[in-house]
Amino acid sequence: MKYHGVLHRYGHLLDLPNYTQPISLLEGDTPLIPAARLVEQLGGAFELLIKFEGLNPTGSFKDRGMTAAISEAVGRGAKAVICASTGNTAASAAAYAARAGLKAVVLIPQGKVAAGKLAGAIAYGAQVVQIEGSFDDALAMVVEISEKHPIALVNSINPYRIEGQKSAAFEICDTLGKAPDWLCLPVGNAGNITSYWAGFWAYDELKGTGLPQILGVQAEGAAPLVLGHAVEKPETVATAIRIGRPARGEQALQAAEESQGQIIAASDAEILQMQKYLAQCGIWVEPASAAGLAGLAKEIKTGKVNLKGKRVVAVCTGHGLKDPEIIIGSMSKPETISPKLEALEEILFS
Ligand SMILES: *Cc1c(COP(=O)(O)O)cnc(C)c1O
Repeated sequence: MKYHGVLHRYGHLLDLPNYTQPISLLEGDTPLIPAARLVEQLGGAFELLIKFEGLNPTGSFKDRGMTAAISEAVGRGAKAVICASTGNTAASAAAYAARAGLKAVVLIPQGKVAAGKLAGAIAYGAQVVQIEGSFDDALAMVVEISEKHPIALVNSINPYRIEGQKSAAFEICDTLGKAPDWLCLPVGNAGNITSYWAGFWAYDELKGTGLPQILGVQAEGAAPLVLGHAVEKPETVATAIRIGRPARGEQALQAAEESQGQIIAASDAEILQMQKYLAQCGIWVEPASAAGLAGLAKEIKTGKVNLKGKRVVAVCTGHGLKDPEIIIGSMSKPETISPKLEALEEILFS
């Protein structure tokens, strides 16, 4: 069957108003890539599958929720949308708004947005506004302005974002025939973990596919759900989860608890190490996307989980191309040689 995007495939299972007018870039349908070599590296004996969400149209899972949020906004007659973003929501909102012919305004925290994301938002034609403050400050502003003016809010506090993002859980169950034993993923504003849990729950009710245990992972410098209080100045290389006051924090904690899982933190060093391991398997993700697996690696190392014989799905939320600086900044310059065979032989074989 030809693939027509998330709403076409799963719209009947999502709580969207009748007036919704589908706007799609054929998001979703992302692969589950086996990563046996990484399992060896982690010293386990389990099955690991990477749900590579970086292969969505704008390079992150945000497209799943954005197709739903923009489709609802268009159906309601909205002419403009707004969001606060650490980058990926901005690029996604800008692309889907462009697709629908709407104006998009995105607020980003000053100087903390990866180049590939900012460039995306601009390329798709959004009006980008930098805030001298954090993501949390920007979110508070867009909430207020959307209550005051006719401009639709498309952050993940928009319920249709959560609806659209459930589709990832449905896809995993459809591909595997049932839910995995564990699902690990990064947690920032906590919309995605909320969606996965709601999605697995709905599919289990409908098809008896079972429920996974969920491991949500924050970055150590931005770990309000682990610390039990907001973080005023969140800091991490994983800019997509650099959030100190998660809008859906309560729901994230609930998902972890109900699934008999956990929310833990991984350090920047652990996250970057995992980014490297994944790249060695041919899967290049942005730093935040490696956090889920970095947390899993930690749990394995400290003997806190026994995964023997289990099936684990790790959600890798965004593509490495989004944040090239993190690699370029740490690499040594390529060697330069004259265009002669001997010169090439010399650096390769001598
Ligand atoms: C948005 C984002 C996250 C965090 O998702 P939340 O729903 O905010 O918890 C993680 N990784 C990437 C790449 C993202 O863009």
